[in-house]
Amino acid sequence: MSMVKEQKLEQLPVIRESYDLVIGGERVKSTSGETFTTYNPANGKAVAEVAKASMEDADRAVKAAREAFDFGKWKKTPVGKRARILNKIASIMRSRFNDLVQLEVLDSGKSISAAQGQVMQAIEDFEFYAGAIVGHRGNVNNVPGQFFNYTQKEPVGVCAQIIPWNYPLMMAAWKVAPAIAAGCTVILKPASLTPLTAIVLTEICHEAGVPAGVVNVVPGSGSTIGNYLVEHPHVDKVAFTGSTPIGKDIMAKASETLKRVTLELGGKSPNVVFADANMEAAVAGSVYGIFYNTGQSCEARSRLYVEESIYDEFLEKFVEKTKKLKLGDPFNEETHVGAVISRDQLETIDGYVQSAKEEGATILLGGKAAVIEGHEGGFWYEPTIITDVTQSMKVVQEEIFGPVVVISKFSNEKEAIQLANDTIFGLGSAIWTTDQARATRVANEIRAGIVMVNSPMSAFPGTPFGGYKQSGFGRELCIETLDLYTETKSVLTYFGTRPLNFFNI
Ligand code: NAD
Repeated sequence: MSMVKEQKLEQLPVIRESYDLVIGGERVKSTSGETFTTYNPANGKAVAEVAKASMEDADRAVKAAREAFDFGKWKKTPVGKRARILNKIASIMRSRFNDLVQLEVLDSGKSISAAQGQVMQAIEDFEFYAGAIVGHRGNVNNVPGQFFNYTQKEPVGVCAQIIPWNYPLMMAAWKVAPAIAAGCTVILKPASLTPLTAIVLTEICHEAGVPAGVVNVVPGSGSTIGNYLVEHPHVDKVAFTGSTPIGKDIMAKASETLKRVTLELGGKSPNVVFADANMEAAVAGSVYGIFYNTGQSCEARSRLYVEESIYDEFLEKFVEKTKKLKLGDPFNEETHVGAVISRDQLETIDGYVQSAKEEGATILLGGKAAVIEGHEGGFWYEPTIITDVTQSMKVVQEEIFGPVVVISKFSNEKEAIQLANDTIFGLGSAIWTTDQARATRVANEIRAGIVMVNSPMSAFPGTPFGGYKQSGFGRELCIETLDLYTETKSVLTYFGTRPLNFFNI
């Protein structure tokens, strides 16, 4: 008998003054009564008050998710029905598209055009997994006669899903959609800087018919709540997206209870432009590749390598186009580059730029905080281009996570590959060439999870997203993700009539 209470959440406006935790199908305050304020990074003004989950709340959420998994009906719900509910989540999101976009812009300071694309992708992720789960199934395997073996895919269990601030709703969708499609239950821990759209997504899941306890959301501190979830013995899996140092810590801590772990971590993605590239496409794509989302993308193409014979021409055009980027009101459809997420991040970015100067690089463009009229309280940084770099410099090796690109030259294909691979990371990479044979050769040699050829687009629902090396492991956004939210059970049956007596006794 199910011990899980069924209850639909009252629908509240997407944009409002306060947001609660969602645990066991209910909006609840923090047990400590604590709240925190979220701020709009574009102008520094308060956006909303959010209940701050305590460890006790995290524990309540694990209990709710555990109970829903062990005794609830979600994992036994036929996939067709689960798929229908995922599609319903997508259709509710679609009907509130503009509100979700507005909320994302307010909470993150990103440009509205970026938010529109990301909210749309979040919707499509639910639609994708609604389709994908229907075809996700086990096998019948070849075994000796009179035996029969089949495998089935069973949900892995209770999943703690910890996400960053750079794509708040999209990251929540990347996590929640495949997990619940597979029949898991979830405790979602959004970044404290941007918790709002993840909370609203959780509410929408309930409205669409996801049973109580299947999706819970606990905004709060990463080092307390996040860490607590990672160590909790009743959590079966941790899916983490965030920085490489925290990812390493999580992997070590999750090993205590042998949790399943997937890690989507940082990057320092190379962008390689060959002399035979279409110049216009390569320049436009390289500008977009680094400055989209204010450079706060894990797969931002932050290391630009250009073949020496076209270096001067490319650089001139690249600088010219970068100068045309519009920073400013994120709600203006013409704004290209939004705010940086926080003062801390602004200082981190500037610290990197200063280190480049100290190490002898040239700041060709930008290199300082920007002041935006009407948004003086916000956090803004000028699109920055750094040249005269060497491979050992911090700005070449470390993830900056801001609108800063380093550019250098190469003389041949072999050197381009060697430079591209000279990093601890292996998430994205891009190649610009009109020679398809070269594109294939270089794509084969690059040690990264994603290779973009003549395109700045890194992924669509269905394309695997994830890293090599210290960019983590596991793939999201694709069919294979469902394998990471399921266990494979092998059922081996003997159907012969003679009893098996291998001991011969
Ligand atoms: P972060 O690692 O600081 O935080 C990510 C999340 O982890 C947040 O929710 C945070 O509260 C939580 N957290 C912090 N400390 C924790 C701990 N000790 N235990 C458990 N949880 C903890 O990262 P961020 O600054 O929010 O995001 C930026 C980073 O995310 C960048 O490195 C970026 O490359 C990476 N990222 C990777 C991908 C990808 O798909 N590979 C996508 C987006 C962002």
